[in-house]
Amino acid sequence: PVALMWFRSDLRLRDHPALRAAVAAGTDGVVPVFVLDDHLDVTRMPVRAAYLTRLLAEFDERIGGLHLVRGRPEVEILRLVQQTGATSVHVTAAHTPYGLRRDQAVAEALGTIPLVRTGSGYAVDPGTIRKADGTAYRVFTPFFRSWQDRGTDRPVEPIDPAGIPWLRPGGGTDLPEAEPPDGVALPPVGERAALEHWHRWLDDHVDAYATERDRPDLDTTSRMSVHLKWGTVHPRTLLADLAERASDGARAYERQLAFREFYADVLHERPDSAHGYYDRRYERMRYDEPAGDFEAWQQGRTGFPFIDAGMRQLLAEGWMHNRARMAVASFLVKDLHLEWTHGAHWFLERLVDADLANNQHGWQWVAGCGTDAAPYFRVFNPVAQGRRLDPDGTYVRRWVPELRDVPGPAVHEPWTLDAPPADYPPPLVDHALERAEALRRHADLGR
Ligand code: FAD
Repeated sequence: PVALMWFRSDLRLRDHPALRAAVAAGTDGVVPVFVLDDHLDVTRMPVRAAYLTRLLAEFDERIGGLHLVRGRPEVEILRLVQQTGATSVHVTAAHTPYGLRRDQAVAEALGTIPLVRTGSGYAVDPGTIRKADGTAYRVFTPFFRSWQDRGTDRPVEPIDPAGIPWLRPGGGTDLPEAEPPDGVALPPVGERAALEHWHRWLDDHVDAYATERDRPDLDTTSRMSVHLKWGTVHPRTLLADLAERASDGARAYERQLAFREFYADVLHERPDSAHGYYDRRYERMRYDEPAGDFEAWQQGRTGFPFIDAGMRQLLAEGWMHNRARMAVASFLVKDLHLEWTHGAHWFLERLVDADLANNQHGWQWVAGCGTDAAPYFRVFNPVAQGRRLDPDGTYVRRWVPELRDVPGPAVHEPWTLDAPPADYPPPLVDHALERAEALRRHADLGR
């Protein structure tokens, strides 16, 4: 029989249960296919489109030919099954609201040909970890304990790539051209680059991760988010390597990976929270409409150096340090009084690691309307955050060239300098006033 292996966010060969299932079923051939899905028109997300194009090119070369089609998956996968005589279609299960709908539509279109879902992009499949009463967790820490108690599986045995009987049907479409906008410096693509990077990071940084992870200036977090997002590495593989290390850093890293698992579980339970409020009370809060101040935020010209450094890192690299993500998100919601959805959308457009579950719930956590949300009254002070997380100002000087000549931590408050750099904007808002305004709006909500 022939099997179809429909790759999505799992463009790798190792630790790949769905691919193993396809190889076991397709003894006469395995057809590797990727659908450029009309619905997920990534051209609207130019950074990701460019990354995906490079990744597809790398994978195509790695396996000696990936069959690409463009259109609606329920049409294209059925067409390919008919063309090749495949008797099963194999995928890694998807868990986003759209992914679930799409796979349902494909399964229906296929009729008696099974759409076999094996494994997921998570160490524990979303929807699995439940409280004793069978309901989903709404708070991270107890979820984490339960997740740890369950334990994660070992990576699946590798398959010899040379032994896979790939079968390539004729036709298909060529890889589209896509260049990153504004010269964004994209990270390396593909499984081999990801694993090489991971092993180097383990040797050099994991043991210090617990103490260094909050420091954007040190820039020593793993940057594995992009590889996890595209599934070029499975988190099981990372967890197996971490388990061999007895350091606080390794334990802290496992906890962060569990955040990713938690948010996927939350999204699985509450698909409406992808674009709506997890805590629906916040729908009624008074918000402002985005205008010039939103654009200043997007471009990193708010006049608050730590905020601007984060936003400019996003523009330059398609990535931002976690603590900067938190600070810029707080600024948008609590200093500019905009709905979190505006900022989240800009992140989805610009992040190379944009992940629906992590992004939408990261934003909602900061905005105070998410799971175990930071209490709304905890408003980040953009200057104090900078002084604490970037004590010498190195991060700001790296990303805000107008401030490059300002030495030391004074760079966090350029308006206090005798001669502030003329080309750097003054603060967009008075933080103390806007903080009070945010608290007022929050108090109104309780009435
Ligand atoms: P590391 O510190 O090395 O962490 C290792 C891995 O753990 C990450 O790659 C990620 O998979 C996971 N992780 C770490 N922190 C978190 C977290 N807070 N929530 C969920 N998973 C986490 N992460 C994304 O992958 N995609 C997003 O679109 C995204 N948007 C975010 C938006 C906001 C407003 C906030 C506050 C956080 C967001 N995060 C997002 C989470 C986090 O900022 C990134 O995962 C992290 O910065 C990626 O860099 P890293 O791989 O070097 O992280």
